[in-house]
Amino acid sequence: MSLFQLQPFNGISQLAVGNPFQQKKYGRRTFLCRPQAVASRTQRIMESVSVSGEVGGAGGAYSYEALKRLDQLWSNICSAQEVVQEPQQVVSTVPSSFRSSDLANKAQGSYDVLVCGGTLGIFIATALCAKGLRVAIVERNVLKGREQEWNISRKELMELVEVGVLEEEDIDRATAAKFNPNRCGFERKGDIWVEDILNLGISPVKLIEIVKKRFISLGGVIFEGCSVAGIDVYEDAAVLKLSEDKILLSRLIIDAMGNFSPVVKQVRIIIYSLLDSKHDSLFFPVSPAMILQIRCGKKPDGICLVVGTCARGFEKNSNSDVIYSSSSVKKVGNSKAQYFWEAFPAGSGPLDRTTYMFTYVEPQPGSPKLEELLEQYWDLMPEYQASFLSGVSLDNLEILRVIYGIFPTYRESPLPSAFNRVLQFGDASGIQSPVSFGGFGSLTRHLGRLSSGIYEAMNGDYLESQDLSLLNPYMPNLSASWLFQRAMSAKEHTNVPEDFINELLYTNFNCMQRLGDPVLRPFLQDVVQFGPLSKTLGLVMLTNPQILPSIFKQVGVPVLLDWSKHFLMLGYYTFLSTFADPVVRPFLNTLPSKTSFRWRRHLEAWKYGAGLDYKL
Ligand SMILES: Cc1cc2nc3c(=O)[nH]c(=O)nc-3n(C[C@H](O)[C@H](O)[C@H](O)COP(=O)(O)OP(=O)(O)OC[C@H]3O[C@@H](n4cnc5c(N)ncnc54)[C@H](O)[C@@H]3O)c2cc1C
Repeated sequence: MSLFQLQPFNGISQLAVGNPFQQKKYGRRTFLCRPQAVASRTQRIMESVSVSGEVGGAGGAYSYEALKRLDQLWSNICSAQEVVQEPQQVVSTVPSSFRSSDLANKAQGSYDVLVCGGTLGIFIATALCAKGLRVAIVERNVLKGREQEWNISRKELMELVEVGVLEEEDIDRATAAKFNPNRCGFERKGDIWVEDILNLGISPVKLIEIVKKRFISLGGVIFEGCSVAGIDVYEDAAVLKLSEDKILLSRLIIDAMGNFSPVVKQVRIIIYSLLDSKHDSLFFPVSPAMILQIRCGKKPDGICLVVGTCARGFEKNSNSDVIYSSSSVKKVGNSKAQYFWEAFPAGSGPLDRTTYMFTYVEPQPGSPKLEELLEQYWDLMPEYQASFLSGVSLDNLEILRVIYGIFPTYRESPLPSAFNRVLQFGDASGIQSPVSFGGFGSLTRHLGRLSSGIYEAMNGDYLESQDLSLLNPYMPNLSASWLFQRAMSAKEHTNVPEDFINELLYTNFNCMQRLGDPVLRPFLQDVVQFGPLSKTLGLVMLTNPQILPSIFKQVGVPVLLDWSKHFLMLGYYTFLSTFADPVVRPFLNTLPSKTSFRWRRHLEAWKYGAGLDYKL
């Protein structure tokens, strides 16, 4: 019997047999059977928690076994050897027409767009379906949201309503928890309180179920339990090869397979479209050094490591922490880490609370493993919660699930398209801020822009990599944010005071608060703008000039110089969007269609790259 039942039933093509995810039993089995030394506290805790309902997306696995797998992947990234070997070739370019190929009659289905990966993929798929395109999603597991909530604000979710992916009442249906006010806390320095920032706990299970139903009702097709094995790009079509030798045909493939997408691995090595000298450097300020870095397929420039829990037993549980920074750097394994915290009431019960501990590190041998961070988490979490809530002890908490994730960040993001007919989306595109792990929040900001741009590209057949790259353009505000990650990572030999990072953050937040909502709120929602950033830097220099030498020591001159370039570009994009856009826009409809498509993307790049899409 064939593994897949490819004929969609009620819009969903289910596995006939053998979804590896469904078959797996989680729990103690694997690790208890293995002869081993004393189990770590993390292992004991994790194996005592029953984990059901694990899914494929980031943060969707809760077992100890999955933690070990992720730690192994993380160790490979950190290994001393630079990642210069050829990755597995997933995408191949075939310089001929599909119609004349041997495969011409073998495709099991033909679509306008195929979306690979269904977690955030379902959102773009539904937006494109609503515009009248024939869309299918290929998801290697069951297309289902994770149990662990996404924290976000209503304002951000309303963007999905504007795009037509959600109805306003869907937001209420998917909202599991709502809380205010929210704290930005700095140990031994002080607190800043804000309202309506990350103050909703959205159930991904419910949200994705709602969008999935909408997608199917619009005629969308889902292939679940199907893994992408390869992509052949012909002159007139893209062929998606699934495991088990099935193939699907489409005009465009959207890679929404997350941070560890097999296509992204290949793209990071072969960015040829940006080398095309036809590009105007005004719009593509790509330096030779940057190109070299991309070409070498080097390691991520930074990594955000996150561990945490959703636990029951918090008596006082009405407020959240958007960020809480510790006053000292901690020794972990062979290196040092500066810890930050986030904590939110969870929707599963009035005493349930999600707590995240995260840190930014450079991937190198000796960088802390997730399990090592968890070992510290068990000691530090009650201490941290006690700074906010009284009398929290690990013994009195029932751990509902243990959460973890790693987020690679690259200075050169978002990722331009490297192949005709293939475009990255969601975490795979690197469009999320390097300082937060809010990839879902970032999607809400860009979905309208991306769905309209993709629709236009499909209509005009502008599916070459150069054209698709315009949809994931250089954004100076994203690149400028990268410095913040560097400033927030503990360094081994920098000679800065122990509490420097905490001090720096407090000074910044304090200045932003003094400058008011137009400065503080966009920043807290991952949007960096030129005016607010300049004002904040100016005020920091006036109020705390003695911190400047430590900043130089902490981030280093090369990083500061690189950042200055993006800061200037941020100013330039702000100028272009404010003054050049109104001049250019009236002429767009008079231009040839392809030129008009390109100019529209440039105008969007100016606007989004300057953070001017953000409305207070
Ligand atoms: C601990 C943690 C907490 C987080 N909290 C928040 C939060 O509060 N707010 C927020 O906005 N964001 C949060 N995020 C980030 C958010 O979860 C991610 O941004 C989001 O999941 C990214 O979705 P994605 O679809 O781009 O990638 P992924 O979530 O990685 O999903 C990729 C999908 O592709 C599928 N896939 C992979 N390979 C293949 C293949 N070969 N064939 C077919 N399918 C494939 C996978 O099964 C999966 O469904 C958090 C993440 C973590 C880890």
